[in-house]
Amino acid sequence: MNQIITNLIQLRHRLELAAITAMREPESIQLLAVSKTFPASAIEEAMHAGQYAFGENYVQEATEKISQLAKLRPWLEWHFIGPLQSNKTKVVAENFDWVHSIDRFKIAERLSEQRGEFPDLANLQLCVQVNISGENSKSGIPIAQADELCNAIAKLPNITLRGLMAIPAPNPDQTLQRQSFAAVRECFNKIKINNQSNLGYEFFNTLSMGMSDDLEAAIAEGSTIVRVGTAIFGKRDKIIS
Ligand SMILES: *Cc1c(COP(=O)(O)O)cnc(C)c1O
Repeated sequence: MNQIITNLIQLRHRLELAAITAMREPESIQLLAVSKTFPASAIEEAMHAGQYAFGENYVQEATEKISQLAKLRPWLEWHFIGPLQSNKTKVVAENFDWVHSIDRFKIAERLSEQRGEFPDLANLQLCVQVNISGENSKSGIPIAQADELCNAIAKLPNITLRGLMAIPAPNPDQTLQRQSFAAVRECFNKIKINNQSNLGYEFFNTLSMGMSDDLEAAIAEGSTIVRVGTAIFGKRDKIIS
């Protein structure tokens, strides 16, 4: 059998086991297949195994694949998960369903405005990326500032605030992995409780955390979207992370 399909079947078993171990419903965790650096043909193979949500990090690379797969667009869900510069927001607003990597108000504001230029498109779904590994990581805002950024974003039109995303520094120790993810969950819960009656938080229900090497820890701490690349598509060229 095709390797990508075999990997997906094995990964689904792994996700199911992680969910059951955490006493959670397997259906409460969405699998986002991270296809960066892999060609459109790899995405089509994954689709044959029933995978429809894909994550991409680089605007140029992603838009090429999205146009190559234009015929399949109605079945596909595209998530932008990489660092986003303000000169690239227009293309993202036009082509994606989700953006996980919002760490500045200005980017959200531009996406909101530019999404408004495409009235046929549903709201763009946004997650705020928090930085839980201190100086080691360039992306994400400190946890202490997440509430304020969420409040500003929640008021914008054409977007829906969905939750938080995090990429902890890689760590082989599962106890330490869980500590990082728990910090994100606690931040998420605080924001949710503080804003219970706020309309902009109606769909604030997403914790985007966990990758190939730490998805069990993320699921144990409440992840609702795991972003998995290597375990589906194989190792990437080492130049691009
Ligand atoms: C590349 C990437 C992933 C997938 O990582 P793997 O270790 O290959 O599963 C997930 N999230 C983000 C933001 C990424 O850049």
